[in-house]
Parts: sequence; structure tokens; C-alpha cells
Amino acid sequence: MNENQQYDAFLRTLRHQDYNGPIFQTSVQNLFHTYLSLVPNRQHYNCRCCMNFLDRYGGLVTVDSSGNLVSLFWEMSLPAGNFMRPIVETLRDIVHRSNITGVFYSPEGTFGVQENYDKKRSLTWSHMAAPNRYMWTDRIKTAYQGEAEKLEDFKNVQRALGEYRRDTLEQAVQLLESEVLYRSEKVLGPAKWLLDCRTKNTNQLWNAVATAPPGFCHPRASMIGTLLDDLNSGLDFESVKRRFAEKMSPMAYQRPTAAPADQTIEQAEKLVEQLGVAKSLERRFCLADETVRLWTPVAKSGATGVFGHLRQSPPAVVGTDVKAVTWKKFQEIVLPTAESIEYLVQSSANYSAYLTAVHTDSPILFQWDNPVNWYVWHGGSSAEQFSLTAGRYVSVIGITLQPNAWESVAEHQGNGVLFMLEGAKDIRHAGNSLFPETLRSEYHGIRKVIEAYSRKATIHPSEGQHAAGLLLQKNSASSWRGNKFKVTSKGITLMYNIDRWD
Ligand SMILES: [Zn+2]
Repeated sequence: MNENQQYDAFLRTLRHQDYNGPIFQTSVQNLFHTYLSLVPNRQHYNCRCCMNFLDRYGGLVTVDSSGNLVSLFWEMSLPAGNFMRPIVETLRDIVHRSNITGVFYSPEGTFGVQENYDKKRSLTWSHMAAPNRYMWTDRIKTAYQGEAEKLEDFKNVQRALGEYRRDTLEQAVQLLESEVLYRSEKVLGPAKWLLDCRTKNTNQLWNAVATAPPGFCHPRASMIGTLLDDLNSGLDFESVKRRFAEKMSPMAYQRPTAAPADQTIEQAEKLVEQLGVAKSLERRFCLADETVRLWTPVAKSGATGVFGHLRQSPPAVVGTDVKAVTWKKFQEIVLPTAESIEYLVQSSANYSAYLTAVHTDSPILFQWDNPVNWYVWHGGSSAEQFSLTAGRYVSVIGITLQPNAWESVAEHQGNGVLFMLEGAKDIRHAGNSLFPETLRSEYHGIRKVIEAYSRKATIHPSEGQHAAGLLLQKNSASSWRGNKFKVTSKGITLMYNIDRWD
């Protein structure tokens, strides 16, 4: 291979590299200068396009699991005879010795210019270039704003780690895990994350900040900060608990406190348009068929076939004792063989309905990957309100988790399981139930308006069996009270009281 062929081989390898983001900028500077001092023919390789590539992107890195810097472009291995091999090694060493200065975002699909045409000489020039596998696609913030925000996030987290001692953090996580604090699951995620950050080196911390879920990087300004401050100041446990409950009440937590000002509305309308979410705000009742179900009743055998109706099923053996079980045990032991389940309708319970987007092609607003959300009424609702008759058994037509747990469990949004009941349908006007705490971070700027809209908007009707019924929620003690289920499997009917999550 001559020099040109060797160089082409280098360019090809450069274009086909793989890397795992997120990408970071480093303190590396003037890489082109170094490069020029190493190539065999300075004049020949002195090119503006390649200079731009090296000086803008040459220092980019990712971070591996041990916290080492990995050069985005110079980890390649070239054949021993290639003249670029020692040059690439030098560039790699320089990058490995640098420090991360921030995350790197770019809306461009390619780093550098791959080719351009020289009219004068009728020649096509190839340059250093590579695809950007982590393109910036946010439509509200620019890449630059995104970088600035992450830098602030990093500083915030670093400051918090300096302020809160390890044992205080551990104490907080323990309290949150024990679930003695009201709605603790909302704060547990960020608290565990912060505790985990204590064990990280600077590069790993950058990685953690770059990939953190929305809201995790503002510990001091959020509930975890309040809790840590209270623990730090040596308040007694009852006071800590009371102060936490006050701030976590659904009425106070992340709810905008005042009606939105005209200016905010205008700004929000612009954003709604920019984001294309106007359609996402139109909601309808979700149908049972549209949920991801853990269980559905077994179709009655004997109901099919010409003589099916003549076959007699043996009389069911009925157990009268009500057995108390946890949801986890019920799911593990009872559900796999359950053919039918009935629920004894209570006059008042944690009845709930699921909602979904009217327009299936509209952007998803929530922190999970489907358009379905749920609501319950504060203090429970009456059977009549959900079109059910108290004191009677009703068929459970399916069991589904809260939509945030359908794909993977987003634990900080809590967990719950819905027993969908035959004919259940909320007849009261619930608004759209687009609660700010469940929205993706890019919508936080307009949450006041979304909530105001949500309160006024009507839910579009849906024909068919609604995804509605009894919602048992891990952290809502009242949802577990007094529930009786009749479960039939293999000719035996037993009574269960599912009385807590696990
Ligand atoms: Zn070039």
C-alpha cells in the first residue's frame, strides 16, 4: 500500500467506528497542530476541513464502566505498516491524559466534512469525518443550552455531595425504603442515585449526570434536599416525618401554586405549538383491550361447540374462609391457574380509570413510553360513580399494572395494579389528569398551563369496556382496605383479601 492508500484506509476506519455515548468534551486543544507536526508531508495534509475536524471533535470522549476516558476517534487499530498508526496513538495518548470539561451535544449528523469537490482541479477530496450517533434532537433547547444545563447539573450534584455526608444520605435512603414516609417512592429514586454518586470518580459522575432521569440533578432544590437538611439539623423523627408528609401531599408536590399569568399562557401556547403536543393534550378513556394485561379470564370451556351447552360442569367447591395475601403472593401463586376472578364491590374504594391519547401519533407526554396514564379520586370514590353496584360480585375482566410499569418499572412514579371490572366507567368529570409530576422534563416549563388546561378539558368518550376498576397502589394504605376477591380455578372457588403489595 502506498501512502495515499494507507491514508484512505485510515479515513475508512475512522468513519466506521462504534462508540457508546454519552459524549463529552475535554481540555484537549490544538490537536491539528500536533497532527501536522507528525505527518510525513506537512504541505500535503494541511487542510481546513481536517483542521476543523481535529480541533472541534478530536478531543471528544466517552467514559467506560471503570471511569476511564475512551477517545471517540483514536481507539482504532491500524495495520502495523500504516504510517498513520503511530500518529493515531499519539493523539489517543493526548486525549487519555485530558479532563472532561462538559457534555457534548450536536444537532449535526456528521462530525466533519466527508468529501468535497475541487472544481479547479476536477478532484474529489476526502477528509476526516465520522457519523454522530447521538444527535441532539430537542426542539425547544439548542444543543448549546443543553450543554450549559448539564454543566449546571454537574455543579449542583457536586455541591450536594460536598454538603451531605455519606451517613446522612444512607439514613435518608433507609427511611425512604422503609416506606414510613408519605409517598416516599417519588424521592427514593433520586436519593439512591445521589448515594450511588458518592462512589463515583469524576468521569463516572459526569456519565451519571449526563444520563440522569429528569429532576435527579437538583437534589438541594427538591424533596430529597429538604429531607437531608432536616436529618442534618438533628430534628426528631416525628418532625422529619410530619414535615415530609406536608410537602409531599399531592396538593403541594410539584403542583403550580398560582393560576398561570397571561404571559405564561402565551409562552406556553408557543411551546405547545413548537413541540407539537397540542394533539397529545386531547385525551379519552382507555379501553381494557388497549392495556398490557397480566391476566385475563379463561374462556369457559363447554361454551363452544354444538353440544357445548349440554355439558354440565361439576358444582364448584366453595371455600368460605377469606385468606389474606400480598399482591406479590397472589400474582405468583393464585393468578397462574385462576380461571375467573370476581370482586365484591365495596360502596367506596380506590376506583380508578386509565386515559390515553385521542391521537395515536401525538408525542408522549409522560416519563414512560406509552400514552396511557391513570387517576384516582382523593379519598376514594363511590361504586355508583363508577357504574358499579355495591355489595354485588362483579367479574374482573383483566389485570394490568399502572402504565408506568408496562415497559419497565419506573419506580419513582410508584407502582400499582388495576383490577379491571366489568362495566366499570367513571361518570364524574375528572379533567384530563395530566399531573405535572408525571410529565417529561421538557414539559416542565409549561406545566402550569398543562394543568390549567387539564382541569378544564373534558375526556373524550370511548365505546366499549373501559380500563377502569379497583386500583391497588403500593404506597396507598387505604387502597388495600376490605377488598374481597372470589377466585375460581379447576372447580374450586376460594376467597382472598389482597391486603398489601409485598
Ligand atoms: Zn482534509
